[in-house]
Amino acid sequence: MTDGAIKRLVVVSNRLPVVVERGADGAWDVRQGAGGLVTALAPVLRDRGGLWIGWPGSRDEDIDAATLASVSGQVGYRLVPVSLPSEIVSDYYDGFANATIWPLFHDLPSRSIFRPSYWRAYTAANEHFATAIAAATTEDDWVWVHDYHLMLVPQRLQAAGAPRRCGFFLHIPFPPVDIYLRLPWRFQVLHGLLSHDLIGLQTARDARNFVACVRALVKGVKVTRVGESYSLELGPRRVQVGAFPISIDFNRFATRAAAADVTLEVARLREVLPDNQLILGVDRLDYSKGIPERLLALQDALRRYPELQGNVALYQVVVPSREHVPEYQLLKSEIERLVGEINGEFTQPGWQPVHYVYRSLSMRDLLAFYRMADICLVTSLKDGMNLVSKEYCACSIDEDGVLILSEFAGSAGQLRRGALLVNPHDIEGCADAIHAAFRMPRSQRRQRMRQMRRSIERSDVFWWTESYLAAAIHKRLDAFPTHEYFVPDAPSGRFDWADAYPE
Ligand code: UDP
Repeated sequence: MTDGAIKRLVVVSNRLPVVVERGADGAWDVRQGAGGLVTALAPVLRDRGGLWIGWPGSRDEDIDAATLASVSGQVGYRLVPVSLPSEIVSDYYDGFANATIWPLFHDLPSRSIFRPSYWRAYTAANEHFATAIAAATTEDDWVWVHDYHLMLVPQRLQAAGAPRRCGFFLHIPFPPVDIYLRLPWRFQVLHGLLSHDLIGLQTARDARNFVACVRALVKGVKVTRVGESYSLELGPRRVQVGAFPISIDFNRFATRAAAADVTLEVARLREVLPDNQLILGVDRLDYSKGIPERLLALQDALRRYPELQGNVALYQVVVPSREHVPEYQLLKSEIERLVGEINGEFTQPGWQPVHYVYRSLSMRDLLAFYRMADICLVTSLKDGMNLVSKEYCACSIDEDGVLILSEFAGSAGQLRRGALLVNPHDIEGCADAIHAAFRMPRSQRRQRMRQMRRSIERSDVFWWTESYLAAAIHKRLDAFPTHEYFVPDAPSGRFDWADAYPE
């Protein structure tokens, strides 16, 4: 094949983009998933006759190949299952991926569990993936590996005598060097990552953190920087590192939010809900989302700004996640305790300050809430990107909503000019932002929302895929996306991350 061109794209992720369920008759029911990644990648895979390789997600038994083949026929690209021995699944997935790497990479190292058995299961799972990739691909393929579950894949492919051209994209943040250094397997993970040809991170800050770790841990590496991208020379090898902020299918959200069923639901909600400003929170149950901090901020706002009482209501949607993990059960209890405390303190006849929903919403209901929320409150302690913040803007089709956004969400770089940025640890600062959003004049709300919507529309998820693949194909730093995202300005009086990472 010609150098640089990508003939066939192979996507690898921990989970296949399918929903797998056993029907009442005992037969498998397998459907394509609806996540953002599959929306972005499915058209490219269909055009190039690509493959998607991943674990079907069933812990107890393997999905038979014939069932998956029939789904492949429906979706237009091949799905290749990786079967993982049941004895490693828990230590690999719940253990190393979600109890070691997830908290560490979200700057919460005291929550990380460093257990050698987790690491062994992780390396074994990465080897299983490498074996499946080697069997399903050739040297002409370009393999795009996704996320923190699979950081060792190309290295294991080489060890198995099946080297492939591989790129990587990390969907979660990459931590600062002093946090990363705590990982007992810091060299192995870094060398695993450096076996890729292109390493994509969510933000310029993540790319800087990654390169700082490489400088600290890899002897003799030569780093060349062009804008917010880097070229690393490791002996004869060259590894490209860049920031590719993931996004959403803006037009799909905006169009769907204007559809008749959503419009009807918005009208129904307006009738049944009291005439308050609606503040919306939508998060998976996770300690990185800062949900207790958000509730404390609302409590503080209601105490210090009494005009909010009776005039705002928080709808907090918490989507169940990792419920079998005791830490998540504790978090749920803490959220429910705070909701009860705030409602107990402030509820009046006909008005309740917090409405708490602990379940997944249908797409129609989620879009109706996005569309009618006056304020969306995102207070992640750290977030790779935070798609909720972008979906909220896309669905604010009346351009009349305020986004309060954590500085520690990846989307803060792109949305900082339109959003009210907050430090989620600063409870009083967040409370002040809630009050400021409540009082913001309509003209300012519109101007800010319009600015954010334009930016997200320009840089949607298809832009993201194209940018990454263009960088992979051209292998040149100047082919990396030159998006406004990478040229931060520093609005006066606002903290600028560039100051925290001087050159
Ligand atoms: N979401 C969902 N069901 C719900 C509420 C939200 O599927 O009931 C989706 C939401 O549309 C968004 C995703 O969950 O696409 C959350 O993504 P985000 O990047 O904000 O956080 P993550 O959960 O990936 O850390």
